[in-house]
Amino acid sequence: MASEIWFSPWALALLGLCIGSFLNVVAHRLPLMLEREWWLDMAESQLGDSAAWQRVSGHKGEPPPAFVQAAKLVADKVGAMPSLSLARPGSRCPSCGHELRWHENLPLLGWLRLKGRCSSCGSAISKRYPLVELATALLFAACGWQFGAHASTLVWCAAVALMVAMALIDLDTTYLPDDLTLPLIGLGLLGAGLGWTGTSLESAAWGAFAGYASLWLLAFSYKKLRGVDGMGEGDFKLLAGLGALLGWQLLPSIVLLASAVGAVVGVALIAFGGHKREVPIPFGPYLVGGGVAAMFFGQELTRIWLPLN
Ligand SMILES: [Zn+2]
Repeated sequence: MASEIWFSPWALALLGLCIGSFLNVVAHRLPLMLEREWWLDMAESQLGDSAAWQRVSGHKGEPPPAFVQAAKLVADKVGAMPSLSLARPGSRCPSCGHELRWHENLPLLGWLRLKGRCSSCGSAISKRYPLVELATALLFAACGWQFGAHASTLVWCAAVALMVAMALIDLDTTYLPDDLTLPLIGLGLLGAGLGWTGTSLESAAWGAFAGYASLWLLAFSYKKLRGVDGMGEGDFKLLAGLGALLGWQLLPSIVLLASAVGAVVGVALIAFGGHKREVPIPFGPYLVGGGVAAMFFGQELTRIWLPLN
């Protein structure tokens, strides 16, 4: 009884508000942190490195001096930037640098009390922050209703959190980091192995494989036909994660839903938004939408295209 209170939809909604607030930080900082890491990596282990130069150029000798200088410059400049992690520094106003006080940083309430403006300089704070917090809270509560008030429901909440972060980062950068896609695959397989997701380990494993392989095949054929990349590897890994979580049986529903919504939005963007046809539209948010729909309406969705099931 006691544990049921902790995992009730209301408690999960509160947890979702806080996690949503953290996801805003993740969406903002993780791409920056990764980009810095790539620059440092490139500078330290490739650009100025003799062995790397010899592998790339195919003959012996030192890398050109300009490369070595550039490597040192990048390492110095990027290394000297104030450190950035998910925990530090505290949240600041992007316009004036005002450090948010604890009550300004409260999920949803902070934004509402400030009426969406920085208390120091008055510049607008994006509506996206409270919306992400609210959406995460609603999805966590929905997990509580759908999967029951017990600890295993946290697996679904964790999956939702990863998916929300992926959708935001893909929207911002058209990139899906491995740091988010791979944990979703792991979570799906673990949840299935422990019997927490109701997906058998067999359908989770096939789901991970088929999720990756089907989109890879689609992207490969598209590239052969059209000569351009339609999708990124991140999308394959995201669908592998959804397959591991929900089982291979739900993959067709997820992809159909994602494509249908993606096509409608894509056409609308090209028609009304002045979006150029060649600029890739991130597919991740639609896959996430399809995945979330499949989490809650999976049985019904599968029955539509596979009536005998
Ligand atoms: Zn400010």
